[in-house]
Amino acid sequence: MNHNLSLQHLKLIVYTEQAAMKIKCPGCKKESKWEGNPFRPFCSERCKLIDLGAWASDEYSIAGRPEDESDQISSEPENEEERD
Ligand SMILES: [Zn+2]
Repeated sequence: MNHNLSLQHLKLIVYTEQAAMKIKCPGCKKESKWEGNPFRPFCSERCKLIDLGAWASDEYSIAGRPEDESDQISSEPENEEERD
């Protein structure tokens, strides 16, 4: 009985270790290996480059937003004054 229990425990440890070695790629959400993967946490160089590109385009869109919003805000009070 004790022997069976320790075998089950050993299986659990091996299972957990295998699970820990797998990662989910932030790019394509696919599972990929962690060990021996030069592009981790990504599954491939392509996903790594795509993510870097998304970061750069995000920065550009954020920088362009405040100007558009301030343009709309400044034009609103003018319309109200004209109505009076
Ligand atoms: Zn990927």
